[in-house]
Amino acid sequence: MKPGENPNWFANNPLSRINIEKDQRAFVKARLDDPGSLLLPLWRGDPLMADGKPAFLSAAARSEFPKNSPIVLIGHQEGRAYFAIDVSSAAREAQSAPFAEIGEYTPLRMAAGVLTRGDLSIVGQARWYFEWRRTHRFCGRCGGETEFDAGGVKSRCPQCETDHFPRINPVAIVLVLNSGACLLGRGHQFPPGFVSALAGFVEAGETPEECARREIYEEAGVTIDDVRYLFSQPWPFTCSLMMGFHATTENREINLDTEELAEASWYDKKDVQAVLNGEERDFRAPPKFTIARQLIERWARS
Ligand SMILES: [Zn+2]
Repeated sequence: MKPGENPNWFANNPLSRINIEKDQRAFVKARLDDPGSLLLPLWRGDPLMADGKPAFLSAAARSEFPKNSPIVLIGHQEGRAYFAIDVSSAAREAQSAPFAEIGEYTPLRMAAGVLTRGDLSIVGQARWYFEWRRTHRFCGRCGGETEFDAGGVKSRCPQCETDHFPRINPVAIVLVLNSGACLLGRGHQFPPGFVSALAGFVEAGETPEECARREIYEEAGVTIDDVRYLFSQPWPFTCSLMMGFHATTENREINLDTEELAEASWYDKKDVQAVLNGEERDFRAPPKFTIARQLIERWARS
């Protein structure tokens, strides 16, 4: 990884985003009819995979999927266009059958453990668009049914002519530090030991730094200083842009909001280092493909 490059998974998509200002539909149609174009099927956000890689098919294979399955143009590389197709409208078995010899639909969190960063960023982007499309079928202004355009990366309401773009939810995620220890917490949805950095959604009229201070105080009762932005991560599971911070505090006293968190504690650097090196403790580090893990590693390995 080059100095200054974003260390996070789901980032650094190697495909160019095609800027097609004129006659977008004709351009997309021509690329779909190009036998050299590639097509990746996703079933409810899970990519078709083979031998640990995304199973890109020829764009001509789209005729084997249900008619009107949403298709999105992800980008291009070396003259080839890359599309994804959402085949969620059919039962998983029916969708798997034609391609059983090629591969199988793999949960994205499992795929994240084996895909290269480049491939994972392509798959994550496809999932993001399909999730946005699934949940934004109607115009927020007039209630009309929207039409997806520009290869599926934006939509337009034919009734009131409003353009709509993918929703991105900004999140501040913070690793709070104090004298060789870091603050980690666990949400109610996770089993004991599955701890992570604390995070929250940025509210209207708020900077990410203000959000970081507010969330840490609300969730743990801890006042933070020296809030330092490090890097970001697109997170397709919740259509979020995670903005990662380190911060410090003078006071280790925790006043937990038990509605938000099941637990929060201080973890000594040597224990965190041991877990990162594969040793057993009573807690786990977040998976490598998370920004929380990268925030922890940046501190623990320094
Ligand atoms: Zn409208």
